[in-house]
Amino acid sequence: MRNVVIIGSGCAGNTAAIYAARANLKPLVVSGHEAGGQLSLTTLVENFPGFPEGINGPDLVENMRLQATHFGAEFVHSSVTDADFSVRPFRVAIDDEWMETRTVIIASGASARWLGLENEQRLIGKGVSSCATCDGFFYRDKNILVVGGGDSAMEEANFLTRFGRQVTLVHRRDEFRASKIMLDRARNNPKIRFLPNTVVDDVYDASANVVTGARLRNRITDEVWDEPVDGFFVAIGHIPNTRVFKGQIDTDPDGYILSKGGARTNIPGVFHAGDVQDRVYRQAITASGAGCMAAIEAERFLEAEGH
Ligand SMILES: Cc1cc2nc3c(=O)[nH]c(=O)nc-3n(C[C@H](O)[C@H](O)[C@H](O)COP(=O)(O)OP(=O)(O)OC[C@H]3O[C@@H](n4cnc5c(N)ncnc54)[C@H](O)[C@@H]3O)c2cc1C
Repeated sequence: MRNVVIIGSGCAGNTAAIYAARANLKPLVVSGHEAGGQLSLTTLVENFPGFPEGINGPDLVENMRLQATHFGAEFVHSSVTDADFSVRPFRVAIDDEWMETRTVIIASGASARWLGLENEQRLIGKGVSSCATCDGFFYRDKNILVVGGGDSAMEEANFLTRFGRQVTLVHRRDEFRASKIMLDRARNNPKIRFLPNTVVDDVYDASANVVTGARLRNRITDEVWDEPVDGFFVAIGHIPNTRVFKGQIDTDPDGYILSKGGARTNIPGVFHAGDVQDRVYRQAITASGAGCMAAIEAERFLEAEGH
């Protein structure tokens, strides 16, 4: 029987582990398919407080893991494949093996949707990004391409004009899902160039380990051309990792956990932390803050239950 099982080993899960371990709860962290979470995909992180020169994303989450381990957190390199929150103690299946726990912290994140191009995956963190707030700063006076047609694409494109010389917005259709107000704002921004009816066939140069351009194709005319760009931002949404809790944890229609205040879910004793609930900020520091909140709530819940 565990006091706390933490699902996910990104900033949220690892910070929750530090707090829960220091509260002597001996948490078990289930790392999932992506140990270290999204930060393990990137290179330099310049906006996590405490590192004036910045720090590599993988080093940052690894430091958190070491800090949690130092205080007694245990990590297993498996995934939660099922969960039963209908009775207490709760039960979670870790790679199909069931385990009992008094509390659960869901910190399973939300994975960025990518286009699915081979070179796109190779160049993540080397010019390919899914986060303008995180990486826009690296593209001062550079040419930036943004892919997408929804509100987040408009928001990212507008934000990136603070840095880039030009922002080209590529969308596969000529109609946009974005709200009128966001679309108008982008259309009225002189630094944004719209390329509707256009798809990305490739992004390169993987052999040079840096983005230098993208191959684009007009879906109507079939014209293909190479667009020189330095930054390649994919803004086609995120997928919250909540499938295994479906029907038990309340989520919004897109699958993000609905918060019942603080770190609470609809089930007392099951808490949320990080991007799995946050569709607005999606930052390492907010995820870490949420992990802290979830661990404190779990500790108080256990205390109130006499454990
Ligand atoms: C390329 C890139 C660059 C970024 N750069 C920055 C930056 O510079 N600054 C910044 O503040 N933010 C940055 N971000 C955003 C930041 O990484 C996220 O906001 C943060 O990682 C969210 O933390 P999280 O712990 O909530 O989720 P995640 O980091 O997504 O971690 C989720 C964890 O849950 C695990 N998991 C999922 N499903 C299961 C399951 N069924 N069982 C067990 N485990 C599971 C995964 O394996 C993973 O360990 C960047 C993101 C990306 C993709």
